[in-house]
Amino acid sequence: MTDSYEIIDHVHDVIVVGAGGAGLRATLGMTAAGLSTACITKVFPTRSHTVAAQGGVGAALGNMQDDSWQWHMFDTVKGADWLGDQDAIEYMCREAVPAVYELEHFGVPFSRTEGGKIYQRPFGGHMSDFGKGAPVGRAAAAADRTGHAILHTLYQQCLKHKAEFFIEYFAVDLIMDDDGSCRGVMAWNLADGTIHRFLAHQTVMATGGYGRSYFSCTSAHTCTGDGNGMVLRAGLPNQDMEFVQFHPTGIYGSGCLITEGSRGEGGYLTNSEGEAFMERYAPSAKDLASRDVVSRSMTIEIRENRGVGDDKDHIYLHLEHLGAEVLLRQLPGITETAKIFAGVDATKEPIPVLPTVHYNMGGIPTNYHGEALRPTADDSEAICPGLMAIGEAACVSVHGANRLGTNSLLDIVVFGRAAAIRAAETVDRNKTVKPADANTGENAIARLDRLRHASGSQSTADIRTGMQRVMQNNAAVFRTSEVLAEGCSLIDKAAENLKDLKVSDQSLIWNSDLVETLELENLMACSKATMYGAEARHESRGAHAHEDYPDRDDENWMKHTLSWVDDNWNVKLDYRPVHEYTLTDEVEYITPRARVY
Ligand SMILES: Cc1cc2nc3c(=O)[nH]c(=O)nc-3n(C[C@H](O)[C@H](O)[C@H](O)COP(=O)(O)OP(=O)(O)OC[C@H]3O[C@@H](n4cnc5c(N)ncnc54)[C@H](O)[C@@H]3O)c2cc1C
Repeated sequence: MTDSYEIIDHVHDVIVVGAGGAGLRATLGMTAAGLSTACITKVFPTRSHTVAAQGGVGAALGNMQDDSWQWHMFDTVKGADWLGDQDAIEYMCREAVPAVYELEHFGVPFSRTEGGKIYQRPFGGHMSDFGKGAPVGRAAAAADRTGHAILHTLYQQCLKHKAEFFIEYFAVDLIMDDDGSCRGVMAWNLADGTIHRFLAHQTVMATGGYGRSYFSCTSAHTCTGDGNGMVLRAGLPNQDMEFVQFHPTGIYGSGCLITEGSRGEGGYLTNSEGEAFMERYAPSAKDLASRDVVSRSMTIEIRENRGVGDDKDHIYLHLEHLGAEVLLRQLPGITETAKIFAGVDATKEPIPVLPTVHYNMGGIPTNYHGEALRPTADDSEAICPGLMAIGEAACVSVHGANRLGTNSLLDIVVFGRAAAIRAAETVDRNKTVKPADANTGENAIARLDRLRHASGSQSTADIRTGMQRVMQNNAAVFRTSEVLAEGCSLIDKAAENLKDLKVSDQSLIWNSDLVETLELENLMACSKATMYGAEARHESRGAHAHEDYPDRDDENWMKHTLSWVDDNWNVKLDYRPVHEYTLTDEVEYITPRARVY
């Protein structure tokens, strides 16, 4: 028997859940196209994790050296270790150039070259001449606060267009129709405790990643995979969840990010012998090899006892040779971060760093229009009517098995815009939204009520820490069959603990205990999909480095993993083909080859 809750109804053409870069770009485009759009967000828009992005947004503007979007596409396909869909990658790299100029015109204060063009720095894996040439400056940057600049600019543009925001509303669950289409979302207003039912023609998940499944990550506490969890509870799959990116340079101890742009500006890593060891692992790209390669090299150095510090358990990042002037101009944010979180003056001494969870390549499967897929036995491209997904919550898939730095800020603006264009085309403004009946959304209320009154013996924080430790230990940079099999049984146990959950605060106003519990269920669903997907994938590709299967196996494993998690936390896996074709004939399909840097 649930408490009775009063429901406040809203009807719109489109609902966007999330106000990070992806959600704001979509909201802006949809509002500007005349669609009545509601943007729901659990935190104030400019507090979304996008605000923390440092290094830059990738686009082949060619402001520093010659560049082309075809080279950018080649690097992205290679970075993705051939698990990315090449039609979507073509779309993203081609649209990158107008997308960055659009941001400039919206007002993003990009750093400038002497000649007044947008400044671009090199980043890992971004090379010239189809991977054969030198690293190329492709990351358009606003010093090392690029995400901050983009997010604030997009929010201001949304305000200019009078977009409608529902701020500090927590989306609990999707509203699904009997025919499997999506009708909207149920949300809880955190400030006054009211329950809201949002109905629309299209619902867009722009809820960000799930870095907080792990103990140590660079992402904000709000990155809890809520959209992924909602989609799984609606009986729809997530895709490629086993591919979790470790960023090479999280600050040792706190996990705070030091941007790859620091290596783009000339920074390098050393071991306990003072050796710049990346030369051994990636003779040509060195410290600018892609992230999975650098993270694995660091892990090997530490394992072979060449780590630095008392416990020989981390690595040094050197920036001091760049000089105070360059650091203060190009990298002011991370110079400050190093001081606060590592107690280090980066202009004089190296920063202690360690690979740290940073990005989720996996997410809600979509096509390049942002429409969510609901693959059937005979059609791996079938869409779920009424549902879209964009940004880190989605898997288009442009990042495949490993994302290149700067390609996520790009992904969020390109596909946020693509989703707006698609919705403007497909939503019939004259059609009325199917009205709610008395029990529409009751599942979400029942779930909220069940968790609110959970009276077991284990706290949300304890169960979460247990889950995070399992993910940190058993789904790490290197994986083995034994460790992953153990990981599956440990994560099963962590999920079992939810049956014994205790929520101590029953109020509905600013109840952070209940918010964290809803988030924990979402994180748990993501964790299960990640661990089971990893256990099943018997190869090494991109971020998934399996020591019992050290090679990439294109014959058997060049396919996307689909995962479903049911109400009893059981995981089901299936697979769908990778798109082995491009969008146009302006570029050829890039055939799989060995990935060396
Ligand atoms: C420290 C750091 C630095 C980075 N640097 C770069 C970089 O230099 N270049 C690059 O390309 N990428 C970078 N990335 C990655 C990139 O910033 C992110 O992948 C991207 O910004 C994600 O954007 P998003 O819009 O998908 O999600 P987010 O920005 O995470 O926004 C998610 C939104 O969803 C809302 N939301 C979530 N759940 C709910 C719910 N239940 N109800 C209501 N609202 C909800 C939140 O309120 C928020 O508004 C970095 C990431 C980190 C962590």
